[in-house]
Amino acid sequence: MEPHYRRLLLKVSGEALGEGGGGLSPERLRYVARELAEARAVGVELALVVGGGNILRGAATREFDRVRADQMGMLATLINALALSEALRREGVENRVLSALSVEGVGEPYHRDRALEHLAGGRVVILACGTGNPFFTTDTAAVLRALELGAEALLKATKVDGVYDKDPVRDPTARRYDYLSYEEVLSRRLAVMDLTAFSLAREHGLPLLVFNMLKSGNIKRAVLGEKVGTLVGGERK
Ligand code: UDP
Repeated sequence: MEPHYRRLLLKVSGEALGEGGGGLSPERLRYVARELAEARAVGVELALVVGGGNILRGAATREFDRVRADQMGMLATLINALALSEALRREGVENRVLSALSVEGVGEPYHRDRALEHLAGGRVVILACGTGNPFFTTDTAAVLRALELGAEALLKATKVDGVYDKDPVRDPTARRYDYLSYEEVLSRRLAVMDLTAFSLAREHGLPLLVFNMLKSGNIKRAVLGEKVGTLVGGERK
């Protein structure tokens, strides 16, 4: 089995790491780590950007000053990164946490060259604390890091099978798109990621693959270039 991609960036939302309500679910962490180990075994270089929404979402925290709340949100992503790192280690996947905010003694500070060295050395890199700046999201961080690290595509793991014309949870007649151009996403006002993240991806022609990570084997299928989810930009195999 030959991977279709050489290097990929996978965005894992905080929600994907916590079943049901908030916090972290050990079962879900184990599941995600196993899925990643399987995908990694195909021979692709994997960088992960983790979200923090299961613990704290800065923009939604009205009680705090926005910048302070976003700092807290970024630290939440670090907690998730550490949890995922440990879960991956247990599955035998060597990995490193690289953080955009420097927390001495916990992970390494993010540095592009260092990240590339780890990837070349066969280690999965887990990128924590988003861009390191308030007013951004981890989706934007994912696009930014994918471009910096020369990933061929950004895999965005979600709870549904891709991008739909209507909300598939509420409307059973909703249709899933197999492929969309960046322009179609904008003209049809489809929610793929926030506009800052999307604009950056579009400007640089970064393909986005939106797919369901809760279906076992899907990450590996995506790595192999098999038809899963919705591809935005780029080309189908
Ligand atoms: N955040 C930030 N700058 C970044 C990335 C994230 O300030 O570059 C903060 C922001 O408060 C955000 C929170 O971290 O709400 C958690 O990230 P996000 O909401 O993107 O996580 P997800 O929804 O993917 O779990």
